[in-house]
Amino acid sequence: MDSSSLIRKTGADLRVAPNLADYAAERRRFSWEAVGRELGAQPDGGLNIAWQALERHAQGALRDKIAFRFLNREQAARSVSYGELSRLASRFCNVLRGLGIGKGERLFILAGRIPELYVALLGSLKNGTVVSPLFSAFGPEPIATRVNLGEGAVLVTTDMLYARKVAKWREQMPSLKHVLLVAEEGGATNVPGTLDLATLMAAAGDACDITPTAAADMSLLHFTSGTTGTPKGAVHVHGAVATHWATGRYALDLHAEDIYWCTADPGWVTGTSYGIVAPLLHGVTSIVDREEFDAERWYGILQDQGVTVWYTAPTAIRMLMKSGAEIPRKYRFPQLRFIASVGEPLNPEAVRWGKEVLGLPIHDNWWQTETGGIMIANTPAFDIKPGSMGRPLPGIDAAIVRHHEDGSASLIETPDVEGELALRRGWPSMFQAYLNNEERYRKCFAGPNNEWYLTGDLARRDADGYFWFVGRADDVIKSAGHLIGPFEVESALMEHPAVAEAGVIGKPDPVVGEVVKAFVSLKQGFAQSEALRLELLGHARKRLGAAVAPKEIAFLTTLPRTRSGKIMRRLLKARELGLSEGDTSTLEAGG
Ligand code: ATP
Ligand code: MG
Repeated sequence: MDSSSLIRKTGADLRVAPNLADYAAERRRFSWEAVGRELGAQPDGGLNIAWQALERHAQGALRDKIAFRFLNREQAARSVSYGELSRLASRFCNVLRGLGIGKGERLFILAGRIPELYVALLGSLKNGTVVSPLFSAFGPEPIATRVNLGEGAVLVTTDMLYARKVAKWREQMPSLKHVLLVAEEGGATNVPGTLDLATLMAAAGDACDITPTAAADMSLLHFTSGTTGTPKGAVHVHGAVATHWATGRYALDLHAEDIYWCTADPGWVTGTSYGIVAPLLHGVTSIVDREEFDAERWYGILQDQGVTVWYTAPTAIRMLMKSGAEIPRKYRFPQLRFIASVGEPLNPEAVRWGKEVLGLPIHDNWWQTETGGIMIANTPAFDIKPGSMGRPLPGIDAAIVRHHEDGSASLIETPDVEGELALRRGWPSMFQAYLNNEERYRKCFAGPNNEWYLTGDLARRDADGYFWFVGRADDVIKSAGHLIGPFEVESALMEHPAVAEAGVIGKPDPVVGEVVKAFVSLKQGFAQSEALRLELLGHARKRLGAAVAPKEIAFLTTLPRTRSGKIMRRLLKARELGLSEGDTSTLEAGG
């Protein structure tokens, strides 16, 4: 990377003093024990996410502060204070107790981003009940598979989703004891075999003592995105709050006065860890929008809600870029002061677009369902190298390792050498199991005392300690003796003004092993043509050299993506080769 593309941090970029100012000093000073002390001692001596994130504030100075502002197209915004949210969560906890549901039992939520989802999630945690939020767009089969794998005892959903996706399949979920329904049109529901949540809530008491839980007790069950295969159920614990607190502070730079918007759905781990837990821990006001992506609406929310910190995903950023330069000209974002992104590699072009259009660079960060929280990030404390995912946060040790056939791993100390990204175990939000798949879990660890968690992603670290994403181990292309990471090729293609998105695969070839094939979708105002295809092939060759550049390029209107916004390269490949598509439970509609 040439130094001219470095985005330097200056005082003018930072409208408030950042939480993390001196990266090296903070890393030296940091300890998870100290974070534990910051969180404050719970009166019962235990550790519960709902107490730390909600109860503590509801009983203190933030009682009347807005915790969430819920937006949707049809109705006026609804604001819920910390005090009210806590009361509602207590009622929900009492509803569960009334139904005989206790600690450790599993509750699934299948709903859009409505207030009841947030109340049910926090109320379950108060009851020590394990929560698993699902994407409301899932079809009946993915719902049943997950409920069965997690042995769900309770399902909270809406009358409409129940009728469309659950009723007929109910018998196939024998563990379900209760289904609690929210009426989408308001009012009460009256569906055989279910209970009306509003009626139960009205009858429940406002006060409850949180069921004692310890740091090691299970809190949430999150399924991975299914980008590379069948989704895995990652088990998380209450102790994870320490990571959520620390990362909210360092990677999202949350300050008490922030208006924060995390665009992820709680059906994906980001929407829970950073859409619910971290902002509440920091006592900020969060925006929740029930609607799906819409460029005009999103610029409008950033402006009208006065969003100060925005956490979103590369797909969303690329969709904004795709929608053109005209729309954002109608809006102003004087309050916005920090933007972060996660989920997929963020191409350098997108980082720079942030600076041009929103006035701020975008801070990419990296983590997975398994890590429970942000591990590697671009923070306010250092310059951004566009295309890099940043540096490990305080409390996190990351390394590049070579993973051997026999399961062992050795550290690669030399900079700029590609290998598997590994994390030293010991951070509080690390997953504790893949549900019902102990062997797969065990295989994730290597080294003396199994001290390294192997992430399945390939990366390299440069001499300044920045990490660069290369690709998922499963997606890497082997061509004529070279290992090619799809991200590098995709980024180069996205530098061409016509390209909105790119997905790159290896296509089997008798001579070189695999050839690089790219699928691209175009920005508004560009049309598919043979001339453009040749131009893109030429552009890629110039940027990447003949060995790495794609040999074939095909146009697609949209690329197949998971509901969490990740390009499903395995589907591009299966379709190209006429193979079975495998698990498509998380595939976005129209993909
Ligand atoms: P599955 O494990 O089921 O195939 P998944 O890995 O996509 O799905 P998630 O846990 O939702 O499921 O996503 C984590 C993965 O997303 C990471 O392992 C990485 O491959 C990718 N990712 C997340 N953030 C970034 C980032 N900033 N840069 C590059 N890749 C990222
Ligand atoms: Mg994964």
